[in-house]
Amino acid sequence: MPKPKVLITRRVHPDALRRVEEHAEVDVWTEDRPMPREELLKRVGSVEGLYTMLTDRVDEELLERAPHLRVVSNMAVGYDNIDVDACTRRGIPVGHTPGVLTDTTADLAFALILAAARRLVEGVDYVRAGHWHTWSPDLLLGYDVYGATLGILGLGRIAAAVARRAQGFGMRVLYTSRRQHEETEAALGIHRVDLDTLLREADILSIHTPLTPETYHLIGETELRRMKPTAILVNTARGGVVDPDALYRALKEGWIAYAALDVTEPEPIPADHPLLRLPNCIVLPHIGSATHATRRRMALMAAENLLAGLRGEPLPHCVNCAQLGGPYDH
Ligand code: NAP
Repeated sequence: MPKPKVLITRRVHPDALRRVEEHAEVDVWTEDRPMPREELLKRVGSVEGLYTMLTDRVDEELLERAPHLRVVSNMAVGYDNIDVDACTRRGIPVGHTPGVLTDTTADLAFALILAAARRLVEGVDYVRAGHWHTWSPDLLLGYDVYGATLGILGLGRIAAAVARRAQGFGMRVLYTSRRQHEETEAALGIHRVDLDTLLREADILSIHTPLTPETYHLIGETELRRMKPTAILVNTARGGVVDPDALYRALKEGWIAYAALDVTEPEPIPADHPLLRLPNCIVLPHIGSATHATRRRMALMAAENLLAGLRGEPLPHCVNCAQLGGPYDH
């Protein structure tokens, strides 16, 4: 039996590559940038398995060009880059990598909370620029994280891990989500409130919803104007949840105090974007899950999802298997 053909759209951890190569004929895009769209469309023509990154758009056009495709495996927990309904209509299961990146991403969210509240990046810039001539009683005053109210938008795996970290800082934690999460409330002593209350009460608002049509620009001018002028907004979810123009005005005009973003709209954010000129805005290049151990775990999980799909079995971590029914319904 010839091995099925697979396309991997970026260099992934060698352990994951080896695992896929045991069972498939692999085409890997090895350049240090996402596959150009035309190249991707050209190369999917003969593949049965597609191993994607969040920078690859899997839509009707791509699926049209991939008549043999039997599985899409995304090396990310979020799958807003994939038209899942279009895959489902074609009977194609979509895999993702939940859980293995939860604590790593929560660590980064907390790093951003601390970096913004205590103005760490401004401090580093100040020292590097040679401005540090003496200690000063009012140099780079920030906000206390301990004892502050943390507002969480979208209570899922990563949000709960952030709330756990907040316990160590003696924070009061409120959340807004579509559902009541009784078990997490009981375990972590957190409380569900409506969005309006969350915005008004949070000293730090941390965003953890997926990007969906419902959450697109969920935080815009109206919401930012409801927040405290001393509030800090942290986004480690997806850039599209926050309206960047409204955020710029909020930071520039003092509706809120600070923003710390691991994700932006668009990505990458252009170097001349106005948000990057603001001293009260920290932007990272989408590195929430970027540790050696976690990227290896993600790569291996995506490999197992891909291989299960090629075997016609339910993916261990599947976005749409319940909708697909048949052998995928588990
Ligand atoms: P998750 O467990 O699915 O949590 C997301 C939560 O958002 C869900 O539990 C859901 O709870 C809530 N939610 C969904 N729609 C909502 C809405 N319209 N309004 C309010 N809450 C809503 O996912 P996760 O593993 O924690 O990951 C969360 C997101 O983080 C991912 O989708 C991904 O985009 C992002 N992420 C980013 C990085 C990074 O590198 N920066 C790394 C990993 C993940 P309810 O059902 O109660 O609404």
